[in-house]
Amino acid sequence: MHDLIIRDAEIFDGTGARPVRGDVAVDDGKIAALATFTGSARETVDAKGLAISPGFIDVHTHDDFAVVLHPDMAFKTLGGVTTVVVGNCGFGPAPWKPASRFAATVDPRPLPQWEGYRGYMQTLEQNPPAVNVATLIGHGTARHAVMGLEAREPSGAEMAAMKEIVAEGLEAGCVGMSSGLIYDPGRHARTDELVELANLMRGTGALYATHMRDEGVGLLSSVAEAIEIGERAGVPVQISHHKASGERAWGLVTQSLKLIEDAQAKGQNVHADQYPYTAGSTSLGAVFRDGAFGGPGRETDPKNIVIAAARGRSEWEGRSIAQLAAAMGCSATEAATQVLQEIPSTTIIIHMMREEDVRTVMRHKSTMIGSDGIPTLDGKPHPRLYGTFARVIGHYARDEKLFAMEEAIHRMTGFSAKKFGLADRGVIAPGLAADLVLFDPKKIIDAGTFEDPKKTPLGVKAVYTNGALTVQDGKSTTARAGRALRRS
Ligand SMILES: [Zn+2]
Repeated sequence: MHDLIIRDAEIFDGTGARPVRGDVAVDDGKIAALATFTGSARETVDAKGLAISPGFIDVHTHDDFAVVLHPDMAFKTLGGVTTVVVGNCGFGPAPWKPASRFAATVDPRPLPQWEGYRGYMQTLEQNPPAVNVATLIGHGTARHAVMGLEAREPSGAEMAAMKEIVAEGLEAGCVGMSSGLIYDPGRHARTDELVELANLMRGTGALYATHMRDEGVGLLSSVAEAIEIGERAGVPVQISHHKASGERAWGLVTQSLKLIEDAQAKGQNVHADQYPYTAGSTSLGAVFRDGAFGGPGRETDPKNIVIAAARGRSEWEGRSIAQLAAAMGCSATEAATQVLQEIPSTTIIIHMMREEDVRTVMRHKSTMIGSDGIPTLDGKPHPRLYGTFARVIGHYARDEKLFAMEEAIHRMTGFSAKKFGLADRGVIAPGLAADLVLFDPKKIIDAGTFEDPKKTPLGVKAVYTNGALTVQDGKSTTARAGRALRRS
């Protein structure tokens, strides 16, 4: 007698193989069997006409604090996500002091305190969220803890202190280290500093994930730097949100993909992730620095920079800097200065890619899917926070036929689990964790827009995390069965 049998579904197993019809049985939070199955169970779900796949793994998130503050994680689970990788772009959840300072820019709710990455994982275990959490060590957060925001190289003692932070994270079970080389203070780090820290991961299976120095006209040298760091430190590389940003850089992804292919041909483990939109989202402070728009690879046209979240100034949200400037009767530069002075944590949506490049990257074998959503739930966040996975499956695979649905699903399940060292997830096979999504392959689609982003994707029928029913008929249950995942 099984705990659960999901009967007669179209099974996408996460490996990229063609789907097969059959049953999936679950026992004790694990997949027990899959076959044309005739056993009995305490609970049976008739999945005729529906598809089942492994739960989606969001490899690029900033949910470090959301999993503590909003343990239902509905903005992710309702779209089929069962695992999030946190700690991206150099921003990690430890050490607590700089981490909590960053957290406050995303969400003002008070956080409990924790000690190191071990303490962060214990916090999650004491009060589990509805999703599993794999954690990256934030290089920027480590640097901030040791040397503040100083624009210089670390001393020997400072380097040793940063290494201690990275070593603690690795020991706690983090899956890698991330860098954010456009942000303070990560942008002050030279290649050698990153190599020396990444070197601690050599032989551990942990990876180096990077928001590169320049995603615009400097894209190719940035990809080369990422590959160099991986090669010198002997670690796998994950290029975050692969894109060509700004009109002058459009088309460069063909060459950046070639750099990835060349590194792979030499035996290096190099891949990337991507969100399926032509607009990005970040802090206004990262694109408007020292009183001017721009910076490496950043859009400079104030028409293309739209306020996503400005706490206490909801009337600004959804308006471009150009529109605000017109309303304020000042220049765009003055408007941005004023917005940042009043609300330094303001986040923006930035329209800077072209569709053709998004497709070129998505089709490529090196690309997995990650939302990069910023959980500013009180504002108007980028719709990717909710809709990324449903959009790739429904829009790009089914409707646009960019690739087969099984390939789309592989890029958000089996491929991702393998890259991030989550050995017991990402594939539907006996003995693996029962992270499962039941969806209607004819109906699944994202529903949010930039104007109205906070919309639940359509067509997601049920989500199971470690065997627990987390979403039913488009609604969250009270299950909080997520785990802190450690590198395997
Ligand atoms: Zn980033």
